[in-house]
Amino acid sequence: MRLSDIIGQEVAVKTLEHSIKKGKISHAYLFDGENGVGKETTALSLVNHLLCESKSACGQCPDCLKFERGNHPGFRLIDSDSTSIKIDQIRDLKEKAQFINDHYMIWLIKDAHKMTLQAANSFLKLLEEPGRMTVFILVTNNLRQILPTIRSRCQVISFSRLSDESVHQILSSKVDIDSRPENTVNLIIKMSRGSIGKALELWDIPFLERRKWIIEQLINIPSMRGPEILGLSQKWIEDRSVVETDLELMLQWYRDLWCTKIDANEWIFNMDYQNELSGLSKKYPLASLEQITTLIMEMIVQLQRNVRVRFIMGYLLLQMRKGVLA
Ligand SMILES: [Zn+2]
Repeated sequence: MRLSDIIGQEVAVKTLEHSIKKGKISHAYLFDGENGVGKETTALSLVNHLLCESKSACGQCPDCLKFERGNHPGFRLIDSDSTSIKIDQIRDLKEKAQFINDHYMIWLIKDAHKMTLQAANSFLKLLEEPGRMTVFILVTNNLRQILPTIRSRCQVISFSRLSDESVHQILSSKVDIDSRPENTVNLIIKMSRGSIGKALELWDIPFLERRKWIIEQLINIPSMRGPEILGLSQKWIEDRSVVETDLELMLQWYRDLWCTKIDANEWIFNMDYQNELSGLSKKYPLASLEQITTLIMEMIVQLQRNVRVRFIMGYLLLQMRKGVLA
C-alpha cells in the first residue's frame, strides 16, 4: 500500500513522504496514537516504500512482491505476547540486525511500550549504534510508558484520531456500508471516536444486539425499584471494553432524551427509537438529564482508573432512577 493511499493521517503521511523523497530516513521512528487510527497500516506502508526498488511501493518489483507475500528478508516484525516484549526477542533482533548489506533491514516493533525494562535497555544499546541501513519502527498507544532514553532517539510521528468523514471513507472500503440503515452507520461512526479499529468492532452484529438490550434497560429504569436496579448492575462483568461501549451508548441515549426535551430532533442519534425517546423524555426534568449526562462522562473517565465496574454501574443506574420526576 502506498502512503498516498492512507486516509485521514495527512500530517504523518506528508512527513514520511518527505523523508523518503529527500532520502533522509531516520534510524528509528516512534508511531504514537490511539488504537485503530492507522499506525500499523502506515508503518507497513513505510516498510513497503523502503524495500521497493524505486522507493514507491510500486507493487510490481520483486521486492514489493516478496513483501506482499510476507517473505521479504529485509523485514521483521516483533510482537508482544499478551503482556510483554521479552529480552530474548530483542537478543534475537540484535543477532539478525548485524547481517546488513546495501539493503534496508527494517524492524517493526508493535506495542513497543510492552518491552520489559531488561528488553528496553538491551534495545537501547542497538539504538545507540544503529547499522547504516537499519530502521526501527516502534508503534505504541502509550508514549508515556516508553523509556525517555528510547524516545529521545526516535523520530516521533503522532497519529491523531480520524475525522468522522475519514472513518466513513475507510469503513466503506472494508464493509458493505449500504447493508445497514444510515442511522446505524452514523451511530457506529460517532461511537468509534475516530478509530477505524473501534468502528469495525462495532460493525459486528453483537454490538447492535447489545445496543438493543441497553436501550431496553434504560427505558425500564423509571419504573424499577432500588433492589431491581442493584440486581441489574450485577449483570455487568469486569470487561472494560464492553462497559466503555455500554457507557457510550448510555451517553448517547441521555443526550437524545435531552435533545428531544428541547425539540432539537435533528441532533438525535437513535432515530429508530424516536417514539420511546419522546415518551421517556417527559419523565425527566431537563436538569436531571444534564446531571446524568455529566455523570456518565465522569464514569467513562473513572473507568480508566481501575474503579470496579459494578460499583460504577450500580451508582449510575441509581442516579438514573433518582432523576425521574416524582
Ligand atoms: Zn516496488
